[in-house]
Amino acid sequence: MRIGALEAGGTKMVCAIGDETGTIYEQESFPTVTPEETLPQLLDYFKGKEIEALGIACFGPIDLDRDSDTYGYITTTPKTAWMNTDIAGYFANCLNVPVGFDTDVNGSLLGEVTYGQAKGLGDAVYYTIGTGVGAGVMSGGKLVHGAMHPEAGHMLLRVREDDPMPEGICPFHGACLEGMAAGPSIEKRWGKKAIEMKDDARVWDLEAYYLAQCMVTTTLMLSPKIIILGGGVMHQTQLFPLVREKTRELLNGYIKNDTVNDMDHYIVPASLHDDQGIMGCLKLGFDAV
Ligand code: ADP
Ligand code: ZN
Repeated sequence: MRIGALEAGGTKMVCAIGDETGTIYEQESFPTVTPEETLPQLLDYFKGKEIEALGIACFGPIDLDRDSDTYGYITTTPKTAWMNTDIAGYFANCLNVPVGFDTDVNGSLLGEVTYGQAKGLGDAVYYTIGTGVGAGVMSGGKLVHGAMHPEAGHMLLRVREDDPMPEGICPFHGACLEGMAAGPSIEKRWGKKAIEMKDDARVWDLEAYYLAQCMVTTTLMLSPKIIILGGGVMHQTQLFPLVREKTRELLNGYIKNDTVNDMDHYIVPASLHDDQGIMGCLKLGFDAV
């Protein structure tokens, strides 16, 4: 089946055409400006490409409640131009095809559990550690939405006493996960680009401590079989062994389970070369039919 994929991000919109095997035939990016300017560009891309469905994984917050009048909308986003934008409805009406719609992180998670290393695992969590921290959750084979959608990027943390920025930078919570461990937080704390601090052990030791708290809470709360960490910050691959080690320390022997304790296969990087999001959109589109 020919499927359209739209990974809608706050900085750029990635459009692609592919199929349900995860094969991408073509792909193009457009900057995210305003709905008035950007949506027609995206529509032009998809028009005439003979797609039978479209999958959209979108930055949020978004409305995923099918009984709501604003299902398919971007709602209260800090990107004010996009507030209250009916993004799923726009494409459904203009293209007249079924549209699958979910959060950007659920899209990446769906890509990984459909085509990547988490294939076949119905209990999986995906975190993106980038400009913010986002979480996608699958439980019993279903993407979790609930009353809204998981916002685990804002889980509260225990602050380490040697942290030079104990107050954090989340405008809502200060020292939540996003406020302590997202890219901008690292950069504010140490006054340098994260990418320039690869060799500074203090930076990654503290970062791993906060990410490990998230791994512990996620494990205890959701009992996943795998936790995938993606996003720009996780390009610092030295973080993985550190996060695993600190997760083990913080769990302190409490969990006696082989899946969890096989940390090298439990806490893992994304496996689809940054195509997990767009591939997840193909699956979202396929599932919409
Ligand atoms: P976004 O979250 O906007 O979709 P990214 O996932 O690339 O995009 O996240 C961007 C953030 O990640 C930046 O704030 C930057 O601090 C950080 N970042 C990007 N690349 C790297 C890298 N190679 N090493 C460490 N941090 C990075
Ligand atoms: Zn927060």
